[in-house]
Amino acid sequence: MKQWSNWSGSAVARPAAQHAVTTEDELSTVLTRQTGTVRMVGSGHSFTPIAAVDQGLQLSLDGFDRVEAAGPMQARIGAGGQLGAISRALDGLGQAFSNMGDINDQTLAGALATATHGTGLGFGCYSAMLSELTLMDARGERHVLSRDRDGDLFRAMAVGIGTGGIVTEGVVNTVAPYRLNRRRYAIALNDMLDEFDARMGACRNVEFYYITGSGQALVMESETSQAPLVPRPEDRDQDGLAQLRLAGRLLGWSPALRRFALGRAIRGHTDEHFIEDWHRAFPTDRDGIRFNETEYHLPLEHGPQALREVIALVERSFPEVYFPMEVRTVGADDLSLSPFFGRDSLSIAVHHEAGQPFEPLLRAVETVFHKYQGRPHWGKMHSLTAPALRALYPEWDMAIEARRMLDPDNRFVTPYIARLLGL
Ligand SMILES: Cc1cc2nc3c(=O)[nH]c(=O)nc-3n(C[C@H](O)[C@H](O)[C@H](O)COP(=O)(O)OP(=O)(O)OC[C@H]3O[C@@H](n4cnc5c(N)ncnc54)[C@H](O)[C@@H]3O)c2cc1C
Repeated sequence: MKQWSNWSGSAVARPAAQHAVTTEDELSTVLTRQTGTVRMVGSGHSFTPIAAVDQGLQLSLDGFDRVEAAGPMQARIGAGGQLGAISRALDGLGQAFSNMGDINDQTLAGALATATHGTGLGFGCYSAMLSELTLMDARGERHVLSRDRDGDLFRAMAVGIGTGGIVTEGVVNTVAPYRLNRRRYAIALNDMLDEFDARMGACRNVEFYYITGSGQALVMESETSQAPLVPRPEDRDQDGLAQLRLAGRLLGWSPALRRFALGRAIRGHTDEHFIEDWHRAFPTDRDGIRFNETEYHLPLEHGPQALREVIALVERSFPEVYFPMEVRTVGADDLSLSPFFGRDSLSIAVHHEAGQPFEPLLRAVETVFHKYQGRPHWGKMHSLTAPALRALYPEWDMAIEARRMLDPDNRFVTPYIARLLGL
C-alpha cells in the first residue's frame, strides 16, 4: 500500500489501491465491479482528510481535462483538469472565469466540492458559476444535473464534498476575458476596520492580509482595466514570510519590539502594482513554507467585529503565529451546502506553519467563529460535525437525503465523512 498525503502533510492515508480513470465507461466499470469504499482525490490541496481513504480505493480523474465552448459565454470543462490549465484554455476560447482564488493548482472537481472562492461581493464561489453538473453515482449510473431542470438536486450537489457522486464535468457560466490592474499597499489595521464597508467595496476584488503583531493591513485591490500590460514584479512573498518567521522567533517575547521589527519587514514587501490578464493576475506563489489553515465564512455584518476578536486572541495567546491572516468577501448563493448559502460573507483565514501544533490555535479561534455562526470552509481545518453543521445549513436534511439516494450503500463515506455528515 502506497502512502498518500495532502499538500500540507496534515492528512495521511494508505489506500488499498490508487487508480486514475480516463473515461466515464471505465469509471462505471470500476464502480460496478469493485466493492468497498471509494474516495476521489483532486490535487490534494485540502487541509482536512476530506479526500483521504485508508484501505479503500482512491480515484483520480486527471484525464478528464477537456475545455470546450458550450455556448457564447459557457464552457464545458472536465472535472479533473487543474484550474491553471483550464483558465489558459478558457482564455484561448475567448472566455474567462469571473473570479478566482489565490492559487490555480486545484482541480475543477476539488474546487466545486469544497466551495472554493476568491474575493469580491459581486462574485460567488466556483460552484455558483455552474449551470450543469455531470456525475456518476455510487452504482455507476450517470446523471446530468441542470440548474434550470433539476432545481433541488442540482443545488444539493453543486457543493458536493465528494459524497454524492463522482463529478466528471461541469458547464460553467463564463465572462469575456479581462485585464486586472492590481495594487497592493499597507494601511493601519484600525483604519481598514473602521471604514470596512467602503474599503472592501472600493473596487472589483479587495482582500487584505493581517500580520499578527504588526497593526498593519496589507490590502490588495484589483479593478478591470484596458491599459497596456505592466508586468508583475518578481514574487518576493516567500522572502517576506521567511523574514516574518525570523522576527517572530527572535522577538516573540517583546510585543513592542516585534511590532517595530515587523513594521520594517513589511515596508520592504508592501507596495506592488501590475496590470495582467485575468488568468495571470489571480494566482500567487504559495509553494515555499507550507502551512495549515482554517477559514470560516461569517455573516458579513459580523465580520469586522469577529476579526477584531480573532486578532486580539491570536496576538494575546499565540505570538508564535507569523503567517498573515487572510480576509476576503464572497457573495451569497442558493446552493444547499455552500457556506455562502443565503448570506454575503466575510471569510477569515488563519494559517500556521505546517508541522507546528494547529489544534490549540484552531480551538481558540473557533470560539469566536462559532459565536458569530461562522460556517467552515469544507477543505480547511475545523472541528464541526453533523449536529452543529445541520444547525448552520437550512437545507441540510434535503442535501443529506439527496446524497443518500445517490450513494445508498455509503461507498463514498470514510470515518471522517461519516462524522461530518452524521452517517
Ligand atoms: C496553498 C493553498 C491555497 C488555497 N487557496 C484557496 C483559495 O484561495 N480559496 C479557497 O476557497 N480555497 C483555497 N484553498 C483550498 C482548496 O481550494 C480546496 O481545499 C480545494 O478543494 C482543493 O482542490 P483539490 O483539487 O486539491 O481537491 P482535493 O483536496 O484533492 O479534494 C477536495 C474534495 O474534492 C473531492 N473530489 C475530488 N475530485 C472529485 C470528483 N471528481 N468528484 C467528486 N468529488 C471530488 C474530494 O473527494 C474531496 O472531498 C487553498 C489550498 C491551498 C493548499
